[in-house]
Formats: sequence, C-alpha cells, structure tokens
Amino acid sequence: MNGTVKDYIRSIKDFPHEGIMFRDVTTLFADARGFRMAIDQLLNPYAGLRIDRVAGLEARGFILGGAVAHQLSTGFVPIRKKGKLPGAVISEAYQLEYGEAVMEVHDDAFRKGERVLIVDDLLATGGTAEAGIKLCHRLGAEVIGCAFVIDLPELGGRKRLEAMGMAVHALCE
Ligand code: IMP
Repeated sequence: MNGTVKDYIRSIKDFPHEGIMFRDVTTLFADARGFRMAIDQLLNPYAGLRIDRVAGLEARGFILGGAVAHQLSTGFVPIRKKGKLPGAVISEAYQLEYGEAVMEVHDDAFRKGERVLIVDDLLATGGTAEAGIKLCHRLGAEVIGCAFVIDLPELGGRKRLEAMGMAVHALCE
C-alpha cells in the first residue's frame, strides 16, 4: 500500500460496545511501511528540539513511544493504569463517561526540569493525556508536547490540552 497513515487504520463498528466506532491501529503497527511512516511523522515537529525522555500512555502509547524513544536515543517511561507498576507510584484520577480512571507513574521516573514528549495512539476527550501531563508536572518534568496518531476533534481533547498550554500534534483526524 502507498497511502497515508490514515489508510492503514481500520475502523471496527460496535467495539467495545454498541454505538462505538473503534479506530484500530494494529493494522498500522503490523505494516512495515505504515509503522515507520507513523513514527517518522510523530517526530516531525520536534526536529532540533531537546527531548530528554519519551512517556507512553498505556497501552498503544508503549508501542509508539518505545519506537519514538529509540529514534531519539532517549529513555522511555510508561504511564500505566492503576495497579500495574511494581515500584512506588504517584496517581492521577480522571473522569470517564461512567465513573473514574486512574493513571500512575513511578515516583522516580523523571528528574526535575527534564523535557518530556508524551505519546499515545488516539486523543479523544483528553482525560488520559491530561492525567499523564499532570503526573509529569508533579515530578518536576516539563512536557514539551503530546503526539498522537489520531485526533477525534469532536470529543474536544485537543482544545482541552491546548487550554493547559500544551502543544498537540496529531497525524490524522
Ligand atoms: P481520552 O482519555 O478520552 O482522550 O481517550 C483516549 C484513550 O482511550 C487513549 O489511551 C486511547 O488509546 C483510548 N481510545 C479511545 N478510543 C479509542 C479508539 O477508537 N481506538 C483506540 N484507542 C482508543
């Protein structure tokens, strides 16, 4: 296939429940050209900028963030759902449509003043990314940007992150 990143993303109707159109990036990850193109494009706006560490949001942010960190020759930090990290953590709760979710990071994951790039597959309401940004800030790191493969603009995530002063980069809508 010779298409754009968007052409490699599959949409699956009614997953995880009825009425939801799930944007599936496994087809993008599985394709050598598609995956390389996505990683290269995620990095485009940051050429020449100092980035000390890449943070990935569970779970597809780990796959993208690991490859981005390798490309930048930086370390990688996982920001995980509650109860998954083995060491001492700090936690940040955020609202879901029904109920609440919690993201966590090891409390020694960043040094003060470190410049961090946050990576995930998809930006919807921005709740997950906002929790990730807050965790970085609480450890004294500076978030220099948030990079996503997909932005769903009608869900308001970009506006929410930009209102926090964040620079948002997405490869497609
Ligand atoms: P938000 O917190 O509402 O912005 O939701 C974003 C989080 O939910 C990200 O970690 C995504 O991986 C995940 N997510 C939500 N909808 C989809 C989808 O359609 N495809 C893949 N991931 C999704």
